[in-house]
Amino acid sequence: MPLVSMRQLLDEAAKGGYGVGAFNVNNMEQIQAIMEAARETQSPVIIQASRGARAYSQDKYLFHLMLAASELYPEIPLVMHLDHGNSVETCKSAIDLGFTSVMMDGSLQADGKTPATFDQNVEVTRQVVELAHQKGVTVEGEIGVLGGVEDGHGAGGSGHVTDPAQAVEFVAKTGVDALAIAIGTSHGAYKFSSKPDGSVLKMDVLIEIHKRLPGVHLVMHGSSSVPKDLQDVINQYGGKLKPTWGVPVEEIQLGIRNGVRKINVDTDSRLAITGAIRKVFIESPEKFDPRDYLKPAREAMKKVVAQRMTQFGQAGHASDYAPISVEEMKKRYAAAAAAAAK
Ligand SMILES: [Zn+2]
Repeated sequence: MPLVSMRQLLDEAAKGGYGVGAFNVNNMEQIQAIMEAARETQSPVIIQASRGARAYSQDKYLFHLMLAASELYPEIPLVMHLDHGNSVETCKSAIDLGFTSVMMDGSLQADGKTPATFDQNVEVTRQVVELAHQKGVTVEGEIGVLGGVEDGHGAGGSGHVTDPAQAVEFVAKTGVDALAIAIGTSHGAYKFSSKPDGSVLKMDVLIEIHKRLPGVHLVMHGSSSVPKDLQDVINQYGGKLKPTWGVPVEEIQLGIRNGVRKINVDTDSRLAITGAIRKVFIESPEKFDPRDYLKPAREAMKKVVAQRMTQFGQAGHASDYAPISVEEMKKRYAAAAAAAAK
């Protein structure tokens, strides 16, 4: 199966009332872990790469690994998505390479740090939508500012919660397919210093945005759950993680009941991999074949990804629909634009 349009995956998820995990990758083992989890749970899936990942692995390696995944797992609808594009040029280079979906994060300026104005965000996102839809590629935008920093991207601090009225205006002016909103989550492992409640996680804002934009697919960033058992493995084998809390799965599930269709998860995979590698290093210090620790690392990531796929509800939905090509999406976007112009 060729790489598929994210728009279709999210439309189907909306029909079925479930969410789809978007898992970050930098290398072959992470892609393998996600694909094995998708096969085991029969899940459609989004694999995403940040600018940092593209620089680390090089575009060509990454893209060909993704093509290999789509050939080896023909029964799994698979999207290749750019996470946090910082400029029109970055999004264009991903589209040219063959990504079937891009995020234009215009909430920050091109430096990936300084918050942008609303008008700057609209302008840059609108340009990416125009360019991407001409090629049948999906676009995710962002309104509000997420907390924390990941891969050198982020404003730091606790961010800025999305204003529902601005979200409505943003969607109308840009035509994005999916919308990332800030509701108090942040990137990285250190999201909350205690179990988050309503005072930090603004689920009421999310519910209000969904009420005003029922047809828009919402995206939750920074949504690793940072489970204690994964932290414990790392610390048990010589790691030094400080106590930390992520986004509870129940809150994500509440989000899914209120329009959240894409859930970004990176930290949980990182924790699973690091714990498994540390365990081998401490228990079998005589080993030096990378396969001796990369295999359990891959297995540990597969386990947490499969668990999320089940919790988000995408499990069992891989063969619900025939995937549409980006070529077909191109025609649909053109027809929708023509209808809107009348
Ligand atoms: Zn993010």
